Amino acid sequence: MIVTMDKILKKAKNGRYGIAAPDAYSSTSVMACFQAAVNQKAPLIISCLGTTNMEETADITRFYAKKYPEAVVALHLDHGGAYEEIMTALRNGYSSVMIDRSKLPFEENVKEVKEVVRVAHAMGVSVEAELGHVGTGIEYEKTRDSGLTHKDEARQFVEETEVDALAVAVGTSHGVYKGTPRLEFTLLREIAALVNVPLVLHGGSGTGDENLKKCISCGIQKINLFTDMANPAGEAMALYMRGESSKDPDIAAALEMFQGKKRNFYVAPMVGAEVYRRKLEHYIQLFGSSGKA
Ligand SMILES: [Zn+2]
Repeated sequence: MIVTMDKILKKAKNGRYGIAAPDAYSSTSVMACFQAAVNQKAPLIISCLGTTNMEETADITRFYAKKYPEAVVALHLDHGGAYEEIMTALRNGYSSVMIDRSKLPFEENVKEVKEVVRVAHAMGVSVEAELGHVGTGIEYEKTRDSGLTHKDEARQFVEETEVDALAVAVGTSHGVYKGTPRLEFTLLREIAALVNVPLVLHGGSGTGDENLKKCISCGIQKINLFTDMANPAGEAMALYMRGESSKDPDIAAALEMFQGKKRNFYVAPMVGAEVYRRKLEHYIQLFGSSGKA
């Protein structure tokens, strides 16, 4: 069943657990998300960027939602850019959208988010926005400090925009970290005490299991993930095509599963999907959302 993100996250906030929000935008990655959700009986927020098969991913998600009616998922636009892009997501049945205006000054961010909230809420769709700015791993050391969310602005931002979930910058980064992640747990706790909506952590990959668990205990409900599933999945596909092995137990298990099958354009993505599912299920268990669907 496709539900709004709000519904999933409110339950997570009350139950004090986290929800994995994997980026998926191909038939096999969406399939892997559903398999993980069903195996773990866990709610999931399937996320797609506007630039990566947004329309196809919506139809693929609806296909698997019919195939696995017991799965509880939200279909979410990640990092919504242009207004037109967000409207396209709404038109394509997304149950949740992020509008990312985190690079704009506070007042402009508020103004543009409010506009999207008005339209989305009228259609029964949840909205996530970002305050502060989560940068990319390659420039982590340079941009980490300047991007951190100001706690005094957080409450005002949520009240004025009426967003359903707030993405905060507390020391994480997108993609692969250049440097060691340093998280601001005190700041996170303070923000969580000031705002009443669920909080979102972007850049979950590479942050470390202990850090992520601590973020959940400090008030995070949604954790965005991509690199930690997509990179090993890609690696597994390459190893599979070359007939090589891996020390990573998830990759090794996937390679064994497909041993003796044809090495081609159809099977290789299935090997990748198996690794993606295994890595995702690890995070679902870590976040405490198994059995919560
Ligand atoms: Zn992000």
